[in-house]
Amino acid sequence: MSRTALRICPLCEATCGLTLTVEGTRVTGARGDRDDVFSKGFICPKGASFGAVDGDPDRLRTPLVRRDGELREATWAEAFDAVADGVRGVVERYGANSVGVVLGNPNVHTVAGGLYPPVLLAGLGTRSVFTASTVDQMPKHVSSGLLFGDANAIPVPDLDHTDHLLLIGANPLESNGSLCTAPDFPGKLKALKARGGTLTVIDPRRTRTARLADRHIAIRPGTDALLLAAMAYTLFEEDLVDLGELAPHVMGVEELRDAVRDFSPEAVTAACDVDAPLIRTLARELAAAPTAAVYGRIGSCTVPYGTLGSWLVDVLNILTGNLDRPGGALFPQAATDRTPRPAGPSHGFSLGRWHSRVSRHPEAKGELPLSALAEEIDTATAEGEPIRALIAVAANPVLSAPDGDRLDKALDGLDFMVSVDPYLNETSRHADVVLPPPPPSQSAHHDFAFNTLAVRNQVRYTRPAVPLEPGRMAETEILARLTLAATGMHGADPSAVDDLVIGQTLGKAVKEPWSPVHGRDPKELAAQLTGENGPERRIDMMLRLGPYGDGFGVRPDGLSLEKLLAHPHGIDLGPLRSRLPQLLKTRSGKVELLPRPIADDLPRLRRSLDELPDGLVLVGRRHLRSNNSWMHNVPALTGGSNRCTLHIHPEDAERLGVRTATEVRVKGAGGEVVVKAEVTDGIRRGVVSLPHGWGHDRPGTRLSHAATDPGVNVNQLLDGSLLDPLSGNAVLNGVPIEIMAQL
Ligand code: SF4
Repeated sequence: MSRTALRICPLCEATCGLTLTVEGTRVTGARGDRDDVFSKGFICPKGASFGAVDGDPDRLRTPLVRRDGELREATWAEAFDAVADGVRGVVERYGANSVGVVLGNPNVHTVAGGLYPPVLLAGLGTRSVFTASTVDQMPKHVSSGLLFGDANAIPVPDLDHTDHLLLIGANPLESNGSLCTAPDFPGKLKALKARGGTLTVIDPRRTRTARLADRHIAIRPGTDALLLAAMAYTLFEEDLVDLGELAPHVMGVEELRDAVRDFSPEAVTAACDVDAPLIRTLARELAAAPTAAVYGRIGSCTVPYGTLGSWLVDVLNILTGNLDRPGGALFPQAATDRTPRPAGPSHGFSLGRWHSRVSRHPEAKGELPLSALAEEIDTATAEGEPIRALIAVAANPVLSAPDGDRLDKALDGLDFMVSVDPYLNETSRHADVVLPPPPPSQSAHHDFAFNTLAVRNQVRYTRPAVPLEPGRMAETEILARLTLAATGMHGADPSAVDDLVIGQTLGKAVKEPWSPVHGRDPKELAAQLTGENGPERRIDMMLRLGPYGDGFGVRPDGLSLEKLLAHPHGIDLGPLRSRLPQLLKTRSGKVELLPRPIADDLPRLRRSLDELPDGLVLVGRRHLRSNNSWMHNVPALTGGSNRCTLHIHPEDAERLGVRTATEVRVKGAGGEVVVKAEVTDGIRRGVVSLPHGWGHDRPGTRLSHAATDPGVNVNQLLDGSLLDPLSGNAVLNGVPIEIMAQL
């Protein structure tokens, strides 16, 4: 007997609502939920394969603990005992910073990943924190921190209303959107064109998104910041700057005019390989459009000037008056955001409050570069102890960080390692303890992070579609128990973590004059919380304290968990609205257009004009049926065009004697790989492309399908030394490489 259940899709940032078909405890089908207030029935091939992802037979069912050198099945109690011994032993012998924490991308796709890692990090007190952000979007956080005082205040293009969209380094027809949560992103781009709007795509590859565009500009990789700076230059030179209603909230416009003086279209044309008149046209069109938005993504972030490029994206939106207005780029307001405080000067954003021990990389947003993880483990210095224990949560840095071979060896040298991971993969195979979360159908879902990036304000929550299998532990309980074991409270009830957070949050809220609960008794408020468990009580608290919340009775029509549960397809909270100056947290209380760290980094960008590359460079690529390494184990999502091949332009191929399906040796600073070529004119001359997350050929893993077509690890071509200095983000695009045809 089958039934249906609702579940928000966790497989990419679009967060589509799914209707699952469930037979017994097995998910046998998935279709788009037509009544979902946000996605309205949209689904992509990944979401349609939810059942296969969920039911992957290679998922671990019980914890594993290393005994006599072998990972063996163990009870949960044995596993957490081992975590407490392993982590606390290292903390006591070497100090908190000798415990490293690595958080992988799936943390932002789970309730547990949103609620518990902050408590774990605060309790541990370690500065050795690494996440997937520094191989992805950290430049955007840093530029937002510097411009707006809040690293998480990221404006998104108002896709449903804009007249003119300029995409740079983004391929939403394959990714379905990133740092811009928009179910049916492809449909929204088509709707933009249908209503007479224009779409420009800047990308060295002629991607599916580029093919949809009115204009595609195949820029030289890594030069996005130069092109954007030249557009800003043109706006000033041609007197096209018009901040509109933003003007009273922005400082530094004249200083910016001076700062971009060296970046005329004529000065950058050779570096970008884009004609100067075309750059001027792009600037004029942006200024002339009734509404417009510039949106940059991974191709403009994972480059040597990632923070400058990310900053310039918002600079262009500001100079044309498009930031914070409908049709431009707006800041979403999520239901679980903190209670908005009144506008005014705040604490600002700081970089480099501490540095990594070996290469002295500055922290950004409390994190060190993932590229530095291996050296922080394997290199002794006089500065302090190396990392001796590692806690990896949903992270596979052996494949996702530069120079996986070095990290692979470094992990073997740790005193202790625990992985929270459903798979025995290239990283978790090194762990002493593996704690497997249940399949997604057995977890509740809410998007804490992606609702702060959504193109429409809305809120949705789905309870587990399938009951927890016997022997499984809820992911929230795993992370709560891990937090307790790692922070010296092993054995306490996991609800202690939730109670601690609830007590602290309410205690703070009642002291804030702008809070709806100002002056009330935190205990009385805590007693009002509803929910079946600690995580639900925390979500109830966040909703009720949030911008749409009921304020614990102050606004009876407001949100609470109870109200949300009564709306299983979600609650629409309306289109994005202007939020300036309220959201600014800069010291000045204004948008700081030319922050000091940016001004200090511009000379480096200026010098790049004199350093034209002459060899081949590498870029990545995304496929609709993939996301990160773990999706390669699902047969329905592999094969066909989703293959690990090297895309190369026909002229480069001919010059190098390369043909489709022949093997080529690709050599970078960090190592080399041998991979099959695919000759295509969908990439510009001088550029080759490899996808990421492949290289499933290491022993000791349990990814049986992925191992049948392992591909190669593109990150092995990097040595970890190429970083955007402001954000610590790895340079993954525009990387110099050599290739040789295999004979
Ligand atoms: S677009 Fe993303 S969220 Fe939507 S169904 Fe596909 S994978 Fe899931």
